[in-house]
Amino acid sequence: MSSETTRTSTAPTRATGQEQFLTVLSREEALARFEAALFPRELATEVRVLADALGFAFAHDVVAAVDVPPFDRSNVDGFAVRSADLATAGEAAAVRLSLNGETIACGTAPTLAVTAGTATAIATGGPLPRGADAVVMVEYSQPAGDAAVDIRRAAAPGQFVSYAGSDIARGEVLLRAGTVIGSREIGMLAASGVARVSVVRRPRVAIISTGDELVQPGALLRPAAIYDTNGAIVTAAIVENGGDAAFLGAFPDDEAVLDKIIRKALQDFDMVVMSGGTSKGEGDVCHRIVARLGKPGIVAHGVALKPGKPLCLAVCEGKPVIILPGFPTSAMFTFHDMVVPVLRRLAGLPPRADAQVGARVPVRIASEPGRAEFVMVSLVEGDGGLIAYPTGKGSGAITSFAQADGFLRIDALADQMPAGTETQVTLFTPHVRAPDLVIVGSHCTGLDIVGGELARAGLAVRSISVGSLGGLAAARRGECDLAPIHLLEEASGTYNTPFLSEGLELVPGWRRMQGIVFRKGDERFEGLGPEQAVQAALKIPSCLMVNRNQGAGTRILIDRLLGGARPDGYWNQPRSHNAVAAAVAQHRADWGMTIAPVAHANDLGFIPFAEEHYDFALVSVRRTRPAVEAFLAALRSEASRRALQLAGFRPA
Ligand code: AMP
Ligand code: MG
Repeated sequence: MSSETTRTSTAPTRATGQEQFLTVLSREEALARFEAALFPRELATEVRVLADALGFAFAHDVVAAVDVPPFDRSNVDGFAVRSADLATAGEAAAVRLSLNGETIACGTAPTLAVTAGTATAIATGGPLPRGADAVVMVEYSQPAGDAAVDIRRAAAPGQFVSYAGSDIARGEVLLRAGTVIGSREIGMLAASGVARVSVVRRPRVAIISTGDELVQPGALLRPAAIYDTNGAIVTAAIVENGGDAAFLGAFPDDEAVLDKIIRKALQDFDMVVMSGGTSKGEGDVCHRIVARLGKPGIVAHGVALKPGKPLCLAVCEGKPVIILPGFPTSAMFTFHDMVVPVLRRLAGLPPRADAQVGARVPVRIASEPGRAEFVMVSLVEGDGGLIAYPTGKGSGAITSFAQADGFLRIDALADQMPAGTETQVTLFTPHVRAPDLVIVGSHCTGLDIVGGELARAGLAVRSISVGSLGGLAAARRGECDLAPIHLLEEASGTYNTPFLSEGLELVPGWRRMQGIVFRKGDERFEGLGPEQAVQAALKIPSCLMVNRNQGAGTRILIDRLLGGARPDGYWNQPRSHNAVAAAVAQHRADWGMTIAPVAHANDLGFIPFAEEHYDFALVSVRRTRPAVEAFLAALRSEASRRALQLAGFRPA
C-alpha cells in the first residue's frame, strides 16, 4: 500500500537532541495499522432509559414486542359500519342504520357488535367493534331521531380504519443496530412500549494539552504565552463525534509530570487524545511516554500529511492513544481525517455523511507530491453548485478557521488539484449554510461594521480575505458579489477605478487614514509630521522600523517616505495592519505604518500621512440580488456611517 520506507520499528533514533522521523508512513498505511490494532472488537454497551438515549447508537436490533396500533382503529370521528349495508347509499338515497347503544371513545373497549343494519358511534382513535369493517365520517351522516342515523355515502371495506400492526408489526425488526437514536427513533420506541434500550456506551475520552506556553482561556496571558486552543476544540469535536469527553487540562513539557497524567488517563478512560509535543525535538516528550505505555504501542509516528506530519498514533492495552500535532489547524485536520473514523466506530456510529459535501475548486491548488495535503476551504454557492475556496495555507493560523467551513485533501501522489476539480470537503461543523453575500478581496475591520447590519437582518455574510488583486480576479470569475479593493494607480494617483474591468462597477466605500505608529510618549516621534518623523528616525540607528509585505498598499506609502533608505527592521515584513501595531506595542519595533483605527485600538501614537480609498468592485449582474441590495443599503445607512466614523474611518 505504501511506497515509502516501512521499517519494523517506528522508534526514533536520538541524534544530538533532535530526533528524526525515520519512518514516515503514508496516510493510508498509518490508518490501516491503527485500525488493525483496534478492530474487530466487542463494543461496550449499556442500557439507557428512552429519555437519555438521544444521540446514542443501538447496540442490537430492536424487535417490536407489540403491534402498533394494537387493535383496528378508527381514523376519524363517525360511525363504525358494515360496508355491505351502504352499498346503495348516495346523496339522493340515504341509508338508515339503527344506532347501537354505546359510543366508543378513545380508550373505550366496545362491548356491542355491529350487526347488519346497525352502526356504532366512534371517535378518532377508538377500537373498531366486532362486525364493523369500515367507518363513515360524521360529515356524511344525519341524525334520524335518537336511535338512528342516515348515511349518504357508500363505504369501501377498510375505509378510515388502521388495522392492528399496520404501523409496526409485532416481531419485525423495528430499528437496526448502529442506528443513531433521534427523536423519530424515540417516537417509534415509545409507540411500541419500549422504555429502555441497549446502546453502545460512549467511549470515555481524556483530552490533554501539552506545552509550557499554554494558558487556559479566561486566564491572563503572560508574555510569550498563548491560549490553549486545542483543549477546547478537540473536546468539542470529540463530543460531536460520539465521545464522552473529559478535558484534563494543559500541562508543561515535563516528562515526569506528563508520565503520571497520561498513565492515569489511560487507566480511567477508553481513549486518550493529546496535542503538542509530538515532533522529535528536545522538549517533545509525549511520544517517549506513550512508547513506554503498553502493547502494541506506537503504530505510526510520522505520517505523510501536510500539515500534520508529526501525528502519533498508538494503541496501548487495546485503547487508542493519539498525539495530535500542536498547531491547532494541523490538530483539526488530522483529528477529522484520522481519528474521527476510529472514534465513531468505537461509539458504534456510522461515518458522518452530513460532514462531507461535494464542491468544485475554482482555482488551481499547487501541492507538494509525497504527502497528502489538507487545504482549508471556504464554501460559497456558485452558479453550478458549491465552490470550495482555498483559504490560508499556513498550518499555524487558527484565524483561518474563521473563514473556513472545512477542508479538502489533495492526494499524496498529486502535485496539484486543477481548477474545476470536483472534490469532497470535510466540514468542521456539519449543516453548513451557503452565505447570502460573498465578499472576496482585501479585508478591513470596517467591513465588520457594515456586515453587522446584515447579520442582524438574518443574512449570512462570508468575507474571504485574499487581497485586492485576488478579489478582482474572483469577481471577474463570478465567484463573489463584491470585491473590496484599495489599489492606487501611481501614474495618475487615482484609486481603484482604473482597475475595474467589464462587468464590474465601483461602489464607494470609505477612506482609511494611513500613518506612522509609535508608542505614545516616544519623544523621537511626538509632535512631528510624517516626513519629519521618518527623517528623524533614520538618523537614529537604534530606532527600529517594521515594514509591510511587497504588494501591500501600505508598503507603497512606506517606500515613498523612506525614499530608498533601508533602515534596520526594513526586512521585517508582516502581512497585516494589526501585526505592525503589535510589533510596535510589544517593543519589537519602534515605528511602522498602519491605519488609524488599528493604531487607536492598540493605544499607539499616530501621525496621519495619506488617505487610502477602500471601495468595492461590484459584479454588475448581481446588483439586484437581495443580499447585495441589503449590503448597499447598509453601507449608505446613517447607522453604519456613524459607526465607521467612530471607528476612525471616513465614509465616502
Ligand atoms: P508542538 O507540537 O508542541 O511543537 O507545537 C507546535 C505549535 O503549536 C507551537 O507553536 C505551539 O505553541 C502550538 N500549540 C501546541 N499546543 C497548542 C494548543 N493546545 N493550543 C494552541 N496552540 C498550541
Ligand atoms: Mg509544545
